[in-house]
Amino acid sequence: MPELRELRVESGHIEIGAALTLTEIERRLDGGVPLLAELFPQFASRLIRNGATLGGNLGTGSPIGDSAPVLLALDASLVLTDADGERVLPLADYFTGYRQSVRRPGELIRAVRVPLPLSPVTAFHKIAKRRFDDISSVAVAFALDIEDGLVRTARIGLGGVAATPIRSLATEAALEGKPWSARTAEAAARVLRGEGTPMSDHRASALYRSAMLGQSLLKLHAQTTEAVSS
Ligand SMILES: Cc1cc2nc3c(=O)[nH]c(=O)nc-3n(C[C@H](O)[C@H](O)[C@H](O)COP(=O)(O)OP(=O)(O)OC[C@H]3O[C@@H](n4cnc5c(N)ncnc54)[C@H](O)[C@@H]3O)c2cc1C
Repeated sequence: MPELRELRVESGHIEIGAALTLTEIERRLDGGVPLLAELFPQFASRLIRNGATLGGNLGTGSPIGDSAPVLLALDASLVLTDADGERVLPLADYFTGYRQSVRRPGELIRAVRVPLPLSPVTAFHKIAKRRFDDISSVAVAFALDIEDGLVRTARIGLGGVAATPIRSLATEAALEGKPWSARTAEAAARVLRGEGTPMSDHRASALYRSAMLGQSLLKLHAQTTEAVSS
Protein backbone atom coordinates (compact mmCIF):
# COMPACT_ATOMS: atom_id res chain seq x y z
CA MET A 1 0.00 0.00 0.00
CA PRO A 2 1.66 3.28 -1.08
CA GLU A 3 0.29 5.05 2.03
CA LEU A 4 2.51 2.78 4.16
CA ARG A 5 5.60 3.29 2.03
CA GLU A 6 6.35 7.01 2.32
CA LEU A 7 9.33 8.60 4.04
CA ARG A 8 8.99 12.30 4.81
CA VAL A 9 11.14 14.73 6.75
CA GLU A 10 8.86 17.35 8.31
CA SER A 11 9.64 20.25 10.63
CA GLY A 12 9.22 18.38 13.91
CA HIS A 13 9.76 14.76 12.91
CA ILE A 14 10.74 12.17 10.34
CA GLU A 15 7.86 9.95 9.28
CA ILE A 16 8.89 6.49 8.12
CA GLY A 17 6.32 4.33 6.35
CA ALA A 18 5.66 1.06 8.19
CA ALA A 19 5.89 -1.03 5.00
CA LEU A 20 9.23 0.29 3.78
CA THR A 21 11.85 -2.41 4.06
CA LEU A 22 14.78 -1.86 6.39
CA THR A 23 17.08 -1.69 3.38
CA GLU A 24 14.93 1.02 1.80
CA ILE A 25 14.93 3.02 5.06
CA GLU A 26 18.68 2.59 5.44
CA ARG A 27 19.29 3.91 1.91
CA ARG A 28 16.76 6.75 2.12
CA LEU A 29 18.01 8.03 5.50
CA ASP A 30 21.64 7.54 4.47
CA GLY A 31 22.95 7.83 8.04
CA GLY A 32 20.68 10.79 8.90
CA VAL A 33 19.44 8.98 12.02
CA PRO A 34 22.67 7.54 13.46
CA LEU A 35 20.91 5.24 15.94
CA LEU A 36 18.95 3.59 13.11
CA ALA A 37 22.15 3.44 11.05
CA GLU A 38 23.71 1.52 13.93
CA LEU A 39 20.72 -0.83 14.14
CA PHE A 40 20.54 -1.93 10.50
CA PRO A 41 23.80 -3.89 10.19
CA GLN A 42 22.97 -5.72 13.43
CA PHE A 43 19.46 -6.69 12.30
CA ALA A 44 19.53 -10.16 10.71
CA SER A 45 21.21 -10.18 7.29
CA ARG A 46 20.84 -8.13 4.11
CA LEU A 47 18.57 -10.87 2.74
CA ILE A 48 16.13 -10.41 5.65
CA ARG A 49 16.48 -6.61 5.72
CA ASN A 50 15.46 -6.55 2.05
CA GLY A 51 12.02 -7.81 3.13
CA ALA A 52 11.57 -6.97 6.80
CA THR A 53 9.65 -3.83 7.73
CA LEU A 54 9.25 -1.76 10.90
CA GLY A 55 5.50 -2.46 10.77
CA GLY A 56 6.19 -6.20 10.84
CA ASN A 57 8.89 -6.00 13.51
CA LEU A 58 6.62 -3.98 15.82
CA GLY A 59 3.48 -5.80 14.66
CA THR A 60 4.75 -9.15 15.96
CA GLY A 61 4.98 -7.55 19.43
CA SER A 62 8.07 -9.60 20.21
CA PRO A 63 9.97 -8.58 23.36
CA ILE A 64 13.24 -9.31 21.51
CA GLY A 65 12.60 -7.42 18.27
CA ASP A 66 15.51 -5.07 17.67
CA SER A 67 13.69 -2.05 16.28
CA ALA A 68 11.59 -1.44 19.41
CA PRO A 69 14.41 -0.54 21.84
CA VAL A 70 15.94 1.75 19.24
CA LEU A 71 12.62 3.47 18.50
CA LEU A 72 11.90 3.78 22.24
CA ALA A 73 15.22 5.55 22.74
CA LEU A 74 14.35 7.82 19.81
CA ASP A 75 11.05 8.61 21.60
CA ALA A 76 9.18 7.51 18.47
CA SER A 77 5.41 7.52 18.04
CA LEU A 78 3.26 5.26 15.91
CA VAL A 79 0.63 6.44 13.47
CA LEU A 80 -2.15 3.86 13.69
CA THR A 81 -4.85 3.85 11.04
CA ASP A 82 -8.12 2.11 10.32
CA ALA A 83 -11.35 2.83 8.44
CA ASP A 84 -12.38 5.33 11.14
CA GLY A 85 -9.22 7.47 10.85
CA GLU A 86 -5.80 7.87 12.42
CA ARG A 87 -4.36 8.20 15.89
CA VAL A 88 -0.82 8.88 17.00
CA LEU A 89 0.53 7.38 20.18
CA PRO A 90 3.96 7.10 21.77
CA LEU A 91 5.61 3.73 21.17
CA ALA A 92 6.20 3.66 24.94
CA ASP A 93 2.40 3.29 25.37
CA TYR A 94 1.94 0.73 22.57
CA PHE A 95 2.92 -2.61 24.11
CA THR A 96 0.62 -3.88 26.86
CA GLY A 97 1.88 -7.44 27.48
CA TYR A 98 3.63 -10.40 25.88
CA ARG A 99 2.91 -9.98 22.16
CA GLN A 100 0.02 -7.69 23.03
CA SER A 101 -0.58 -4.06 22.19
CA VAL A 102 -3.22 -1.36 22.14
CA ARG A 103 -3.66 -1.92 18.39
CA ARG A 104 -7.31 -2.62 17.67
CA PRO A 105 -8.49 -5.39 15.32
CA GLY A 106 -8.37 -3.98 11.81
CA GLU A 107 -5.91 -1.26 12.75
CA LEU A 108 -2.57 -0.97 10.94
CA ILE A 109 0.65 0.76 11.84
CA ARG A 110 0.87 3.26 8.98
CA ALA A 111 4.10 4.98 9.97
CA VAL A 112 6.70 5.53 12.68
CA ARG A 113 7.46 9.13 13.67
CA VAL A 114 10.89 9.99 14.99
CA PRO A 115 10.91 13.44 16.64
CA LEU A 116 13.49 16.05 15.69
CA PRO A 117 16.00 17.25 16.71
CA LEU A 118 17.80 14.00 17.44
CA SER A 119 19.78 13.48 20.63
CA PRO A 120 23.47 13.69 19.74
CA VAL A 121 24.83 10.80 21.83
CA THR A 122 23.37 7.47 20.73
CA ALA A 123 24.33 3.82 20.74
CA PHE A 124 22.73 0.44 20.12
CA HIS A 125 24.22 -2.52 21.95
CA LYS A 126 22.91 -5.87 20.80
CA ILE A 127 24.10 -8.76 22.94
CA ALA A 128 23.65 -12.08 21.17
CA LYS A 129 25.43 -15.42 21.00
CA ARG A 130 26.76 -14.63 17.52
CA ARG A 131 28.10 -11.28 16.39
CA PHE A 132 25.82 -11.14 13.33
CA ASP A 133 22.54 -12.69 12.17
CA ASP A 134 21.31 -13.77 15.58
CA ILE A 135 18.40 -12.96 17.87
CA SER A 136 19.19 -10.62 20.77
CA SER A 137 19.62 -11.97 24.27
CA VAL A 138 19.53 -8.36 25.39
CA ALA A 139 19.33 -5.15 23.38
CA VAL A 140 19.97 -1.68 24.77
CA ALA A 141 19.53 1.59 22.89
CA PHE A 142 20.68 4.93 24.27
CA ALA A 143 19.87 8.51 23.24
CA LEU A 144 21.40 11.17 25.47
CA ASP A 145 21.62 14.95 25.32
CA ILE A 146 24.85 15.92 27.02
CA GLU A 147 25.59 19.64 27.26
CA ASP A 148 28.53 21.19 29.09
CA GLY A 149 29.28 17.80 30.59
CA LEU A 150 25.75 17.44 32.06
CA VAL A 151 23.18 14.86 31.02
CA ARG A 152 20.17 17.02 30.05
CA THR A 153 17.92 14.19 28.87
CA ALA A 154 18.36 10.43 28.67
CA ARG A 155 16.17 7.92 26.89
CA ILE A 156 16.99 4.23 27.06
CA GLY A 157 15.10 1.43 25.31
CA LEU A 158 15.51 -2.19 26.40
CA GLY A 159 14.71 -5.48 24.68
CA GLY A 160 14.93 -9.00 26.07
CA VAL A 161 14.48 -8.16 29.74
CA ALA A 162 10.68 -8.11 30.12
CA ALA A 163 7.50 -9.38 28.47
CA THR A 164 7.59 -6.30 26.24
CA PRO A 165 10.25 -3.87 25.04
CA ILE A 166 10.50 -1.20 27.77
CA ARG A 167 11.83 2.27 28.52
CA SER A 168 14.41 2.27 31.27
CA LEU A 169 12.76 5.05 33.27
CA ALA A 170 14.60 4.64 36.60
CA THR A 171 17.97 4.72 34.87
CA GLU A 172 16.97 7.72 32.80
CA ALA A 173 16.08 9.53 36.04
CA ALA A 174 19.40 8.46 37.59
CA LEU A 175 21.25 10.10 34.69
CA GLU A 176 19.32 13.29 34.04
CA GLY A 177 20.82 16.43 35.57
CA LYS A 178 24.02 14.62 36.55
CA PRO A 179 27.54 15.14 35.23
CA TRP A 180 28.43 12.56 32.58
CA SER A 181 31.16 11.15 34.79
CA ALA A 182 32.40 7.66 35.60
CA ARG A 183 30.74 7.96 39.01
CA THR A 184 27.35 8.80 37.46
CA ALA A 185 27.70 6.00 34.91
CA GLU A 186 28.55 3.47 37.64
CA ALA A 187 25.64 4.56 39.83
CA ALA A 188 23.21 4.52 36.88
CA ALA A 189 24.57 1.12 35.74
CA ARG A 190 23.59 -0.28 39.16
CA VAL A 191 20.06 1.03 38.58
CA LEU A 192 20.02 -0.32 35.02
CA ARG A 193 20.98 -3.81 36.26
CA GLY A 194 17.74 -3.82 38.26
CA GLU A 195 15.45 -2.77 35.39
CA GLY A 196 12.91 -5.14 33.85
CA THR A 197 12.14 -8.69 34.87
CA PRO A 198 14.68 -10.73 32.91
CA MET A 199 14.23 -14.49 32.74
CA SER A 200 16.57 -17.38 32.07
CA ASP A 201 16.19 -19.29 28.82
CA HIS A 202 18.38 -21.07 26.26
CA ARG A 203 19.86 -17.75 25.10
CA ALA A 204 20.98 -16.34 28.45
CA SER A 205 20.40 -16.48 32.19
CA ALA A 206 18.53 -13.73 33.99
CA LEU A 207 21.74 -12.82 35.83
CA TYR A 208 23.67 -12.51 32.58
CA ARG A 209 20.97 -10.31 31.07
CA SER A 210 21.05 -7.99 34.10
CA ALA A 211 24.84 -7.89 34.06
CA MET A 212 24.81 -6.96 30.36
CA LEU A 213 22.43 -4.07 31.01
CA GLY A 214 24.82 -2.48 33.47
CA GLN A 215 27.81 -3.24 31.28
CA SER A 216 26.24 -1.54 28.28
CA LEU A 217 26.02 1.79 30.12
CA LEU A 218 29.63 1.55 31.27
CA LYS A 219 30.60 0.81 27.67
CA LEU A 220 28.65 3.82 26.42
CA HIS A 221 30.42 6.03 28.96
CA ALA A 222 33.83 4.68 27.97
CA GLN A 223 33.07 5.16 24.27
CA THR A 224 31.71 8.68 24.56
CA THR A 225 33.83 10.33 27.24
CA GLU A 226 36.54 11.35 24.81
CA ALA A 227 34.03 12.77 22.31
CA VAL A 228 32.15 14.72 25.01
CA SER A 229 35.24 16.20 26.65
CA SER A 230 36.87 17.21 23.38
C1 LIG B 1 16.63 -15.37 9.52
C2 LIG B 1 15.92 -14.33 10.32
C3 LIG B 1 16.65 -13.47 11.13
C4 LIG B 1 16.00 -12.49 11.87
N1 LIG B 1 16.76 -11.66 12.64
C5 LIG B 1 16.16 -10.69 13.33
C6 LIG B 1 16.94 -9.75 14.09
O1 LIG B 1 18.17 -9.78 14.10
N2 LIG B 1 16.27 -8.82 14.79
C7 LIG B 1 14.91 -8.74 14.81
O2 LIG B 1 14.34 -7.86 15.45
N3 LIG B 1 14.14 -9.61 14.09
C8 LIG B 1 14.74 -10.56 13.36
N4 LIG B 1 13.97 -11.42 12.62
C9 LIG B 1 12.50 -11.30 12.64
C10 LIG B 1 12.01 -10.00 12.01
O3 LIG B 1 11.30 -9.35 13.03
C11 LIG B 1 11.08 -10.15 10.88
O4 LIG B 1 11.74 -10.79 9.83
C12 LIG B 1 10.59 -8.81 10.33
O5 LIG B 1 10.93 -7.68 11.09
C13 LIG B 1 9.12 -8.79 10.28
O6 LIG B 1 8.79 -7.85 9.29
P1 LIG B 1 7.88 -8.30 8.06
O7 LIG B 1 7.62 -7.07 7.30
O8 LIG B 1 8.47 -9.49 7.35
O9 LIG B 1 6.55 -8.72 8.84
P2 LIG B 1 5.54 -9.89 8.58
O10 LIG B 1 6.21 -11.19 8.87
O11 LIG B 1 4.90 -9.67 7.26
O12 LIG B 1 4.50 -9.56 9.72
C14 LIG B 1 4.77 -9.85 11.07
C15 LIG B 1 3.50 -9.56 11.88
O13 LIG B 1 3.31 -8.15 11.93
C16 LIG B 1 2.05 -7.80 11.35
N5 LIG B 1 2.26 -6.58 10.57
C17 LIG B 1 3.06 -6.42 9.50
N6 LIG B 1 3.01 -5.12 9.07
C18 LIG B 1 2.16 -4.48 9.91
C19 LIG B 1 1.67 -3.13 9.97
N7 LIG B 1 2.06 -2.17 9.12
N8 LIG B 1 0.78 -2.82 10.95
C20 LIG B 1 0.37 -3.75 11.82
N9 LIG B 1 0.78 -5.05 11.81
C21 LIG B 1 1.67 -5.40 10.86
C22 LIG B 1 1.65 -9.00 10.48
O14 LIG B 1 0.25 -9.06 10.36
C23 LIG B 1 2.22 -10.14 11.27
O15 LIG B 1 1.37 -10.48 12.34
C24 LIG B 1 14.58 -12.38 11.84
C25 LIG B 1 13.85 -13.24 11.02
C26 LIG B 1 14.49 -14.18 10.26
C27 LIG B 1 13.66 -15.07 9.38
